[in-house]
Amino acid sequence: MATRFHIKSGISLFFHGITLISLALAAQSAQAQESDFTSCMNRLQPEAQKAGISSRSFKQFTGNIVPDMSILEKLDYQPEFRQPIWDYLAALVDDQRIQEGKQNLGLYKDTLSRVQARYGVDPATVVAVWGVESNFGQTFGKYPLAQALGTLSCYGRRQAFFQKEFFAALRILQSGDIAPERLVGSWAGAFGHTQFMPTTFERLAVDFDADGQRDLMDNVDDALGSTANYLVKNGWQTGQPWGFEVKLPKDMSIAGEGRRKKRSIQTWASKGVTAVNGKALASLAAPSTQAGLLTPAGANGPAFLVFKNFDVIYSYNAAESYALAIAHLADRLRGGEAFQTAWPTDDPGLSRAERIVLQKKLLQKGYAIGEADGLIGSKTREAIKAEQTRLGLKADGRAGQKILKALQ
Ligand code: CA
Repeated sequence: MATRFHIKSGISLFFHGITLISLALAAQSAQAQESDFTSCMNRLQPEAQKAGISSRSFKQFTGNIVPDMSILEKLDYQPEFRQPIWDYLAALVDDQRIQEGKQNLGLYKDTLSRVQARYGVDPATVVAVWGVESNFGQTFGKYPLAQALGTLSCYGRRQAFFQKEFFAALRILQSGDIAPERLVGSWAGAFGHTQFMPTTFERLAVDFDADGQRDLMDNVDDALGSTANYLVKNGWQTGQPWGFEVKLPKDMSIAGEGRRKKRSIQTWASKGVTAVNGKALASLAAPSTQAGLLTPAGANGPAFLVFKNFDVIYSYNAAESYALAIAHLADRLRGGEAFQTAWPTDDPGLSRAERIVLQKKLLQKGYAIGEADGLIGSKTREAIKAEQTRLGLKADGRAGQKILKALQ
């Protein structure tokens, strides 16, 4: 692509020390990007028309878009720092989220009972999805959707996929369900309380409060109803649990087991698997219930038998750690306890509140890590690494209990 060529030649000249020419090329490259983008939009317009977007709407909602090239870095970003599952869960299911979830169960009690009556999904599950997806409506993402999806429709690896989402976003704007200035979300196009993609919105969002609009940005009733509708359409089984923690016999092989490999509760019982408190599995589920064995951290960490409803939660975001966060948060909202088996680590993860305390310590020590916001980015990790080195700890840049305690 011409744009890429300009950027590359700019960089190579820069390294030869001809900075001015490189800057000129960069400016030219930005111009080339814009004209590229305009011709891309011109090319997409007839397709958009076929997809139900009038030429007037297309002009109205795409006319002022300037491509946001910073999004492409996110598309190509390979996370070099993968979180262990105990870090992921420590921040997603912490005391603060459990407390706020319980508050919201009370606050939206009436809506949630009507949602349960219509869709058969219990309040705790719906609120847990809400809490993990958007922190109960507090974190939506800040990218204007038409701009983000327009950029991804014209540049980068997955243009065909994003064009469908782009057209869906334009149809949503055309329908008037959500005002253009309110349609903002993640860089990849997920938006609102439930972080639906635009095509998911079109298929599954509901106007639960019956005011004539399906509004997942500013209407909690619509958001909670739409979440339950999503789960039901993906196969939710009313009244069934997602699964539960279990205890495995010491010599049991877990090779080849997983969420998808379902066996009956009776079969698991015959292998010596018990409830986590040592009681028989029969006390928790009917013998013929089909369940897969989930061991997110291997045989020495917590183990779970998971049912069909776990797969349904999984379908929301296609990651087992993610599904486990929602499932566990739902249990905690019902008054359930933390996992009984410890994660196989001597350095457990931090809640969001603890991450903020750690960041404040690093700021006090003079590290320029920006605001103490509880988000562990590359600056925080570099500062942790420096402190770990100073203290003679393993210098991996990870925010865990050990470095927090060492700095307190
Ligand atoms: Ca509505």
